[in-house]
This record gives sequence, structure tokens and C-alpha cells, in this order.
Amino acid sequence: MIRVEIDPHSGFCGGVIRAIGKAEELLAQEGKLFSLGAIVHNEEELLRLEQQGLVTIDRDDLEQAGGVDGENLLVRAHGEPPQVYALARDKGFRIIDCTCPVVLKLQRHIREAHARMRAEGVNGQVLIFGKIGHPEVLGLVGQVGGDALVIENLAGLERQIAEGGLDPARPVEIFSQTTMSPDAYRSVCKTLAERMAGKAPLKVHHTICTQVATRHKELSEFALGHDVIIFVSGKTSSNGEVLCNLCKRYNIRTFSISSIEDIQPGWFTPDDRVGVCGATSTPKWLLEKTARAIENLQ
Ligand code: SF4
Repeated sequence: MIRVEIDPHSGFCGGVIRAIGKAEELLAQEGKLFSLGAIVHNEEELLRLEQQGLVTIDRDDLEQAGGVDGENLLVRAHGEPPQVYALARDKGFRIIDCTCPVVLKLQRHIREAHARMRAEGVNGQVLIFGKIGHPEVLGLVGQVGGDALVIENLAGLERQIAEGGLDPARPVEIFSQTTMSPDAYRSVCKTLAERMAGKAPLKVHHTICTQVATRHKELSEFALGHDVIIFVSGKTSSNGEVLCNLCKRYNIRTFSISSIEDIQPGWFTPDDRVGVCGATSTPKWLLEKTARAIENLQ
């Protein structure tokens, strides 16, 4: 008989809980709320909120918006660059800022590092380890008017050095997007230190969210302790991709799904111990629904 267990540490992180809580509160009061970008990278949770009156708009919609008269516009946990706040205000929106406090702190540290790097006689560089084009990263780069380099991986680091984008002979301050893999960040920082070889100061900022870093350790143990892992996550979740790959590293019978319709009975054998887990953007109710669907297969 298949036994199913839900990872007790999976589910929304603090930043997402806060943003969704605020959205639900406003939706209950006013029945309508605009969100700039998907409030959470999970299609099923978005659908649930849209049924309550949430309307997701993108940057183009914001630029083209007209006749706005104080409607609420939620800035999600990822944050936004300063010019987006200015644009939203100009258009007449009332901003409900749900940027996660951890991201706000990271944005501030990047502004401060940039000021240090631009001080007379320093000529340093701000480097961000993150997913190119990810909303959080766009918000981070926007803090310094675009004057920061973004690398996604070791290959990106080597490419920037080879092509002259990053000069290892000049000072560097490096930051990570909050949801990146701690192992990958360590390895990027180690390689960067080797390439710089003490020619200039390197300052490494430890900016991976502690909720994410802790989850890496707990999730590896969870993946090892089960025969099959069902990883539940939205298709566009960057954190989901990182955590699912982590599970695959510890358990080759890891399968990724975004809804219960993706579950295939052929993945399981009788007596399997199945672990259900997800990203920081996966709601608990979806993990529970997934566990029930697997139990109902027998
Ligand atoms: S992962 Fe961490 S930093 Fe990112 S939104 Fe969640 S709590 Fe905030």
C-alpha cells in the first residue's frame, strides 16, 4: 500500500504569505485589486485569487493605463525598480507595497554597495547572481539604474570575464537573488575569488533568504527519506526549478507536477513511500490535494 507524506516545511514563504494575506484582505473589502505581475508563481493559487477579483496586469498594461482614479495596485514580494513606483503613481494608482522585507533589505544593500563602488578612486563593480529577467533581479538592477552585472551560473561568470564585462582586477561586491541555490552561489563566489586572485577587494554578501537556505537542507533529507518525490510547483517558479533539481539530485524518482492532472499512476509501485513537497510559492492546499489524489490511485 502506498504511503503518502507531505513535507511539513513546504508551502509559502513569509514574503508570499504576507502578500497573499494583504491581497485577500483588500479583495474581501473591495472585491477588486490589481497586481503588477503574478502575485505568486503558481497557476492554481492565482486562479483562486482571480475568482475573488484579483486582476493581474503587466508592465505594458501599466504604461498604457488611463483614467485610473486611486485604484489599488499591489507590488508583489519580488519588489520593483523605483521608476515603476513613479510610473504607477503618475498613472493614478494607490500602491500597496508588498515587497518582502528581505528583498527590501537586499535592495538597500545594493544601493549602498553601488555608492561605495562609485566613490572616487574605487571604480568597482556590483555583481548579482540571479536569473536574468527574473522580476526580483529586475528590481535589484533597477535600484542602481541598471549599473550592475547579472550572472546566472559559472559559465556566465566566465563569459563576463572573457568578454571584458567583468574586470577581475577591479573591486567587486557580489549579491545573490534571494531564492538561488546556496551551493551554486558558494561555487560562483569561490571561482570569482580565484579569478580575482587578490588583485582587488572582493566582498561577498550573503543574501540568499534564510527560509530558502534552510529549506535546501530539509528538502534534501526529505528527498532521501522517500522512494518517490512528487514536487508541486508553478511552471514559472524560479525557486521551484531550483528546489526540484535539488530533489532530483537526492532522489532520481522525483517527478514535477503543476496540478493533479499531471500525476501518472505508472510512477508508483505498491508499498512506495511517497513524499509530496513544493516551492516557496506552492500553497499548502495544493500539496494536500496532491497527496489525496495519490492516495486515491490505490
Ligand atoms: S523567499 Fe524569502 S526573500 Fe523571497 S519572498 Fe520569500 S521570504 Fe521573502
